[in-house]
Amino acid sequence: MKKADTTKLSTILKEYAYKVTPTRLSILSTFMRVRKPLSAEHILKHVRKTERKADQVTVYRTLTSFEKKGLIKKVNLRTDAAFYELAFDHHHHVVCTSCGRVEDFTDCSISHIIEKVTRTSPYFKTIDDHSIELFGMCTTCVR
Ligand SMILES: [Zn+2]
Ligand SMILES: [Zn+2]
Ligand SMILES: [Zn+2]
Repeated sequence: MKKADTTKLSTILKEYAYKVTPTRLSILSTFMRVRKPLSAEHILKHVRKTERKADQVTVYRTLTSFEKKGLIKKVNLRTDAAFYELAFDHHHHVVCTSCGRVEDFTDCSISHIIEKVTRTSPYFKTIDDHSIELFGMCTTCVR
């Protein structure tokens, strides 16, 4: 890892009140580089490329902790395995239900829905966050 990258990643970890460790750096670096939903298994594979002896329990525990602190979030791809992405990189996905291909999109013009929900709901008057995943078949699978 380049020194500039390490500094940037360390800053992010510190912002989330983490001590900087090689495993945490490696996991965060993987998310920053790959920029698509990753399963715990994917992450472990990536981490072991640089840290051959990285412990599975530590990696999985770090993911749970990252999720709890809001650094990463679960992405619903309708698969059995949980997938994660950086929580501060806001975007949405179109997912192929046949091959699992994932495409990103950033437009979230849903203010009219939020407005309607907060107006009509007896219990919710503010909405802080949302996730949108769209499901369909990609052109390769439709063929
Ligand atoms: Zn994504
Ligand atoms: Zn497909
Ligand atoms: Zn959005």
